[in-house]
Amino acid sequence: MVIINAYDAGALHELFGIDMSSIDGLGVGAGWGRVVPGGRSDAHQHDETETFVIVQGAGDLIVDARRYPVHAGVVAQFEPFETHVIENTGDEDLLFATLYWRDPERAGRQAAQVERGRLRDRPVFVFSTPPTPNGDLHLGHLSGPYLGADVFVRFQRLNGAQAWHLTGSDDYQSYVTECARREGRTPAETAAHYSAEIAETLRMMDIPLDQYTVTDADPAYRAGLQAFFSRLVASGAVAPAEAPALVGPDGRYLYEVDVSGGCPTCGGPTGGNICEECGEPNFCHDLVDPAIRHSDAVPRVAEVTRFMLPLHRFAPDVALHHHLGRVPARLRELAERLFARPGVDVAMTHPSDWGVPPLEDGAPGQVIWVWPEMSYGFLHGIAELGRRLGRDWRADAPRADWKIVHFFGYDNSFYHAILYPVLYKLAFPDWAPDIDYNVNEFLLLDGAKFSTSRRHAVWGKEILTPDTVDAVRYYLSRIRSEGRRTNFEVGAYESAVRDRLVGTWQDWLHDLGRRMAERYDGLVPDAGNWTPEHTAFLARLDTRRAAVAGALGPDGFSLNQAVAELDGLVDDVRRFASLEARVSTSPAWRDEARTAIALELAAAKLLAVCAAPVMPRFAAKLAAALGGGEIDTWPQTVTLVAPGSRVTLADRTFFTDPRPAVDAELAGWLTATVAETLQLEDGPPAADLSLVSLGAASLHAVTLQYRILEHTDVEVSVEELLGSTITELAGLIGQRTQAGMEVALA
Ligand SMILES: [Zn+2]
Repeated sequence: MVIINAYDAGALHELFGIDMSSIDGLGVGAGWGRVVPGGRSDAHQHDETETFVIVQGAGDLIVDARRYPVHAGVVAQFEPFETHVIENTGDEDLLFATLYWRDPERAGRQAAQVERGRLRDRPVFVFSTPPTPNGDLHLGHLSGPYLGADVFVRFQRLNGAQAWHLTGSDDYQSYVTECARREGRTPAETAAHYSAEIAETLRMMDIPLDQYTVTDADPAYRAGLQAFFSRLVASGAVAPAEAPALVGPDGRYLYEVDVSGGCPTCGGPTGGNICEECGEPNFCHDLVDPAIRHSDAVPRVAEVTRFMLPLHRFAPDVALHHHLGRVPARLRELAERLFARPGVDVAMTHPSDWGVPPLEDGAPGQVIWVWPEMSYGFLHGIAELGRRLGRDWRADAPRADWKIVHFFGYDNSFYHAILYPVLYKLAFPDWAPDIDYNVNEFLLLDGAKFSTSRRHAVWGKEILTPDTVDAVRYYLSRIRSEGRRTNFEVGAYESAVRDRLVGTWQDWLHDLGRRMAERYDGLVPDAGNWTPEHTAFLARLDTRRAAVAGALGPDGFSLNQAVAELDGLVDDVRRFASLEARVSTSPAWRDEARTAIALELAAAKLLAVCAAPVMPRFAAKLAAALGGGEIDTWPQTVTLVAPGSRVTLADRTFFTDPRPAVDAELAGWLTATVAETLQLEDGPPAADLSLVSLGAASLHAVTLQYRILEHTDVEVSVEELLGSTITELAGLIGQRTQAGMEVALA
C-alpha cells in the first residue's frame, strides 16, 4: 500500500541541535528536519549512507569542514563516516527530508581509507606539547608527543597532505622559576638556555620543526596573548572574582610547583593544580594535607581575587566539541568525571611576576596562567607559520578548515581537551575547532617515573647520534606508552637493537645482497614464473602495507602497531626466503627462483617506504641500496624493483650493535695485563671489578694506557681506565677497534 507522508511541524522534536521527526515504514530510515534561521545541526558521523532532499529555504552543508550552499530542490548524499552539519543561512525555515540506510560494503570501504576526507585539502597543524624549558628532553618526552607528531607529519606528507609540525618553548611555566632559583639564574636566562638545548635535542632526534614559538622571545607574542585574553574577558565568562586559594603563613600565594599534597579526587600524591595520576585538576586549597616546597610551615586557605572561569557552565560545549574530531574515550571519560563535580571554577590568572599580565584591571600583580596561555600559543604558532609561508592565517580569526592535531601526555589532558575548547568557544563563538587528540601515558625508566627536576632520566643527547637515531626511534616506537604505562631499560633497548635490527633486519638485507651478488651479479632480475606461494606472498606484502597505513593514519595512529607491522614484514620475508631457498640455485627452477628474489627485493623496497616515517635515515639508505631515489609518496600497492637496477645491500651498515659482545681473547689479555701492571698477587682479578677498586693509581693507568695502545691501536683515557671495570674496558676497546676498522674501510 502506498505510503504518503506530509511534513508536520507538530511532530518535530529536538535532535542533533535541530528539529526532527521520523517517517515510518519506508524500509529505510527516514524523517523530516527543520533548521530555524541562523540554526545549525550538531556535527555527527555514522556508518549509514544518508541522503538529504531540501524542500524549503537555503543554507550550507558543511561536510568534513567544506561548505556547500544548498536550497530547495537540491539532493545531497553523505558517504558513511563523513562529518556533516546543516546550517540555515536564510531568513525562513530550512526544511529537508532525510533517508538513511546501512550498506556494510560501502561503510567497510570507507573505513579502510587512510584519508577518510577529514584531512584532505585542509591545512593540518600538528602540535607536540610545547616543552617546559626547565631541563633538556629525555626519552620519556621524546617517545611521547615529539616522536608521535613527527611520524604523523611525515606520513601525512607522503600522502600529499599539507601538514606541519609546530611546537615551542613554554617559557612562562612556574617550573622555570623554580629551576632558575636552583641554578642561580634569572627565569629568562633559564628559559633561553633550555629552550635552545631542547631545540638541539629535537634536531638530533631527526624531528624537524616548522614552527618553534619561544614565548618569552617572540616579539608579537605578548600583545597577541593579551588581545586573546581580552576576548575571554569580553565574553563575560572570565572576570575578577574572590575565590579560595592556598597561601603561606606570610601570605605568599602558592600554586603548581610551590605545593604538594593529596589529590582531592584520587588521594594519590600530587603537585599543585594537576594530578598526574587521575588527570584531574585541583585548585591547591583543596589538596589533602598540603605542604609547601622547601618549608615546614603549614599553608592556609585565603580568599584571593583572580580572573576566574566557571568552567562547569560549559560542559555541554565540551561534549559537543568531543563529537567532532578524534577524541579517545580516555579523554571523554575525564570530561564526564570532571563535570560530575558540582562546580569547577578555574583561576585564569595567578599572582606572579613571571609571565604576561592581562591588560584589564582587576587583578594587579598577576599574570595570565601559562596553561590558558597555551591555547593562544597554538593559534599564534599557526599565524607565524602562515606569515612565513605567505598564507593568510591569523591568530585572531581561526578558520573552519583548519585541522588541528595534538600530541600530549595524559597529564595535559585537562588543559588540551577540556579547558582549551571552552576558551576557544568564548574567544571565537563562531569557530567550531576540529581537533584530533593523541594522548600517551607515562614512560617509566627502570620502573620509576622519568623526572626532569629530579634528573631521573636518560637524556636524548646521551643516546642520540647519527648512527643510533633510527634505532632509538624504532625502539621508542615499539615501547611507546600508548594506552598503558611502559618501561624503558637500557639493556632491553640494546638487546632489541642487537636481536631485531642488527640480527634480523640487517642480517636478512646483507644475506639478500650476497645472494644477489652471487647469482645475479647485483642486477635485479625480472620476475619469471609465479607459483601460488609467490602470489600469496605478494598479497601478504600488500596486507602489511595496508596495516602500516592504518597504524600511521589519523584515525588509528599507533606507533606500537606500526613497528609491530614492520617487524612482521621482515619476519614474513625471512620465512618466505628460507622456504624458497631449496630451489633457489636449481637450473630447472630458475624462472621461479628469480620471481622469489624479485619478491624479496619488493619486500625490501616496501620496508623502506613503510619505515620512512619512523626511521627516515634507514629508509633513505635502503631505498638507495635498491637503486631507488627519494621516498616521497606512500604506495597504493606493492611494486617490484625495476629489473636491471643495481643492488648494493651486502656492504651497507644500516644499524650497529650498541654494545658489541666482548671479545674473549681481548678480555683475557686485558685481565692478564691489569694483573701484571698492578702486580696483583692473587692471580687474575674478577672482570666486574673496577680498576680503582683493584688499587690502580694514575701511574698504573698511564702504563696501562700505553700497553693498550701498543697492543690494540686504541686510545683510552686515564679517566676511562680508572672509572671502568675490566669488562667495560674490553667492550670500549672492542667498540673503538670496530669504529676504527669502519673508518679504514670507508
Ligand atoms: Zn588524582
